[in-house]
Amino acid sequence: MNISAGTNAPLLSIKDLSVRFGPDRVVEDLSFSVKAGRTLAVVGESGSGKSVTSLSVMRLADMMGAHFETGSILFNDTDLLKASQKQMRLIRGKEIAMIFQEPMTSLNPVFTIGDQICEVLLLHENISKAAATAEARHLLDMVRLPDSEQLLKRYPHQLSGGMRQRVMIAMALACRPKLLIADEPTTALDVTIQAQILNIMRDLQRDFGMGMIFITHDMGVVAEMADDVVVMWKGRKVEEGPVREIFANPQHPYTRALLSAVP
Ligand code: ADP
Ligand code: MG
Repeated sequence: MNISAGTNAPLLSIKDLSVRFGPDRVVEDLSFSVKAGRTLAVVGESGSGKSVTSLSVMRLADMMGAHFETGSILFNDTDLLKASQKQMRLIRGKEIAMIFQEPMTSLNPVFTIGDQICEVLLLHENISKAAATAEARHLLDMVRLPDSEQLLKRYPHQLSGGMRQRVMIAMALACRPKLLIADEPTTALDVTIQAQILNIMRDLQRDFGMGMIFITHDMGVVAEMADDVVVMWKGRKVEEGPVREIFANPQHPYTRALLSAVP
């Protein structure tokens, strides 16, 4: 039984968030929330502030020079915008995990897949190296990568893009996070591989009952993955609601334009 999925309290609440890079306000008065067990899609064209929003939740945006002008990001009663970097190191990866568009940028080229998955486990969980290795194999099985024992010994460049992205999903889920943020995780992949990855992510989200923020610019992907959707335009939220309602009755011209591109 998934207790948390039944409650109404949000897992993550972004309230009135405004983010600036130098003089440019790139996210403005943004509010939305995600519940446990639900997938929220965030859609918007390139440059609309989707990645900055997700990097703000992870508190990586400020490391890149962003300033949080206003707002709060509540996760389990903690305002992440006020959390120390020490607190964030405990939350990041363990409580909230993130998958990026290009897995090569997140995988270290000089370490094996096994070492990298074990590193995540050993950082957050109090387990032996042998137990971590066994868990790493289990995680690779979970993302349907065959021959996990051999795969643990391989280096990132020896894998295809789709395989690397599956490894990233395995690493993201290693500590059973409560929230997974996926920032255009299939955009860089071939269409057939995209479909496989989306299936895997949807099944794992259901099995784990975690909350998910799924960032995309593709309304077809929204229909397949999400319960609810937020539409962003130039740093602002222009529309939000259950996917079925937004598809049936889009209000904003930009949402209509996005939907007209869905076959
Ligand atoms: P999206 O993910 O929706 O394509 P982003 O969130 O990456 O858009 O970017 C939103 C805006 O913030 C863009 O105008 C982009 O140029 C700007 N931006 C993003 N990262 C930085 C950065 N590190 N320094 C300065 N401006 C940035
Ligand atoms: Mg982006």
